[in-house]
Amino acid sequence: MRVDAVTLFPGMIDTPLSESIVGRARAEGYLELGFVNPRDFTEDRHRTVDDKPYGGGTGMLMMAEPVYRAVKKVRKKGSFVILLTPKGRKFDQAAALELAKKKHLIFICGHYEGIDERIVPLADMELSIGDYVLTGGEPAAVAVIDAVTRLIPGVLKKSDATVNETFTGGLLEAPHYTRPAVWRGKKVPEALLSGNHKLIAEWRASMAAKLTGAARPDLSGARPVKKAARKAAK
Ligand code: SAM
Repeated sequence: MRVDAVTLFPGMIDTPLSESIVGRARAEGYLELGFVNPRDFTEDRHRTVDDKPYGGGTGMLMMAEPVYRAVKKVRKKGSFVILLTPKGRKFDQAAALELAKKKHLIFICGHYEGIDERIVPLADMELSIGDYVLTGGEPAAVAVIDAVTRLIPGVLKKSDATVNETFTGGLLEAPHYTRPAVWRGKKVPEALLSGNHKLIAEWRASMAAKLTGAARPDLSGARPVKKAARKAAK
């Protein structure tokens, strides 16, 4: 998959996505990540990308033209353009699965007070990572690119990893334990030590239901995305 980020601060995305699993996915060619900086598409001496908002108000707004030109530079037939904004559709695992099917994603990262509204029609999707306001779209791009990259077939060496996990089955995942079997007086649940696969599966299903009911009752009736996850893992 190819991903381009339109950003004034490429390091805010490049650095965190150079580590661990995503870093390896880039090194192995599963993810090609590029950056395009609106500042490179300005024409004045100061390479100005922002200006004061019409009608007054605090802060500066990114101007439409440098962003437009940056997107134009990387957009091809079949590209899918995502505008990161707290006003967008809330990002979730179902959205990650949808985006993982695309060949080319372009993320537009706002900064300061955001971007001139006239940029909105350029996007195929407006996306928010949650009901809070970040300083810029860059940390949001990192979260979305991370969640999408791990769904690219081959990135996780065990394709099952993305099928049996939180949200994919419409529930939170059951808790996990590793050695030692007793840690500071706390024991691993008996069922997990039994070696009986049926019993383990039943324990996990009941814990997932219990946990979801207690922590995220809103998810209990959620549409499972397991089928799509299984397909994506193939
Ligand atoms: N003035 C804007 C408002 O009140 O809606 C907030 C602008 S925010 C400080 C600057 C940029 O950060 C936004 O243009 C957007 O790209 C990004 N951003 C902030 N919160 C976000 C979120 N929850 N999800 C995605 N992007 C976000």
